[in-house]
Amino acid sequence: SKGASLVVISNRLPDAPASSAGESERARNVGGLVSGLGPALSARNGVWLGWSGGRHADAHDLAIDASSSPVRASFDFRPEWHARFYNGFANRSLWPIFHGFAGRARYDESEWNAYVEVNDVFARQASKLASQAGTVWAHDYHLLLVGAALRRLGHQGPIGLFVHIPFPPIDLFETIPWARELIEGMLAFDLVGFHTRRYASNFVRCAQELAIGAARTERGVRAAGREVRVGVFPLGIDATPFEAPDEASGDEMSELQAALRGRRLVLGVDRLDYSKGIVERLEAFGRMLELFPEWRGRVSMLQVAVPSRADVPEYAEQRKAIETLVGRINGLHGEAHWVPVRYVYRSYGRAQLAALYRAADVGFITPLRDGMNLVAKEYVAAQDPANPGALVLSRFAGAADELAGAVLTNPHDREGMARDLARALDMPLDERVQRHAPMIARVRASTPEVWASELLGALEAAR
Ligand code: UDP
Repeated sequence: SKGASLVVISNRLPDAPASSAGESERARNVGGLVSGLGPALSARNGVWLGWSGGRHADAHDLAIDASSSPVRASFDFRPEWHARFYNGFANRSLWPIFHGFAGRARYDESEWNAYVEVNDVFARQASKLASQAGTVWAHDYHLLLVGAALRRLGHQGPIGLFVHIPFPPIDLFETIPWARELIEGMLAFDLVGFHTRRYASNFVRCAQELAIGAARTERGVRAAGREVRVGVFPLGIDATPFEAPDEASGDEMSELQAALRGRRLVLGVDRLDYSKGIVERLEAFGRMLELFPEWRGRVSMLQVAVPSRADVPEYAEQRKAIETLVGRINGLHGEAHWVPVRYVYRSYGRAQLAALYRAADVGFITPLRDGMNLVAKEYVAAQDPANPGALVLSRFAGAADELAGAVLTNPHDREGMARDLARALDMPLDERVQRHAPMIARVRASTPEVWASELLGALEAAR
């Protein structure tokens, strides 16, 4: 039979060259999925389909790179798709509302139309690649309508979706002008997967309330004469490269240690995104220095902010807010001999990141809302089990469901976060070890391979 038995679709291809600084994050993040999906793709001669990163007025033919593993198929976007679909509906409508930022979400009919159009284009490309009965697995909020478009094209095989970001409660979701079209489109998948139970139940509730004739079933939602399974599949990491400290990053790290001069290190690592709560975290760090002056001069915070979506105005504003605040905190609390907050606007490779995680006494990871947050899991993996750092983690990160040994904190409560940070800084060795042990066990066991094979198994059983 013709065509691939497995097609994976994501907006960006893994390891695709980034066309601008603002887009590099997607390519890197998808990188984590490669280890999960790679085995399944190569076992079935599968294809990974995504946007090439290029923009052209009319050239959007499929380019297939058969020499890469997994095999990649890509196409260029029209410039207006990039503006309206990617920067527009995906990143200025769906991203904020799905993360709970109703005030930041803006809606524009031409952007919605582009979203529908680009989902159709992805579906057409996927149907060229997949065999009639082949499995198609779509990733994330860019592709919520790709299942419905594939069904219209007559695709017979299983079609699944994994949503990598949160799914909002109905009170937020229903404010999207095209809420019903979105949810009814999502009901065309055979399986929709989420990181947490909360997101899955938000989705089921939205479907029940908004989709015509939809009813909940034991395993998901029944609508239009068919059942959509809804499942919870928390994405994990490959812990191994974080567990083994890398010699190559030794120099920079010994310079960091020298600069710290025995002071404690509190570490934040995020894409520069308002959902990550970087402003709130910096304020809490400043507040901690006021509430617990014994820490003044004895602790430094390092915030790594990875450039992200810099051509979206909200992101440029967020950058300015962070940089102003870093200056204010350092001006207010610093001494000639002590810089409270070190801030870097750049991204690190995995080996350097692992060394930073290991050097940090506290992982301070406090998104206002985050689908999962893999940084939290990487921080856990990088700790020395005999003398681990403490993790202060937002309750509103999907990872909080699995990392019960963290000090769970509310990033909307500045004083509470300041106290939780002080508690982590003071935490005795035996408590740190006790909290870390179940977390590292969980992180080691929950690999991307396990995640991918469980989701694919459920998807193919659903059909
Ligand atoms: N990351 C990186 N270099 C950096 C900072 C982060 O490669 O300087 C990686 C990090 O290792 C993690 C990913 O970016 O795998 C971020 O994933 P997460 O789920 O925490 O957040 P997202 O960016 O997907 O919202």
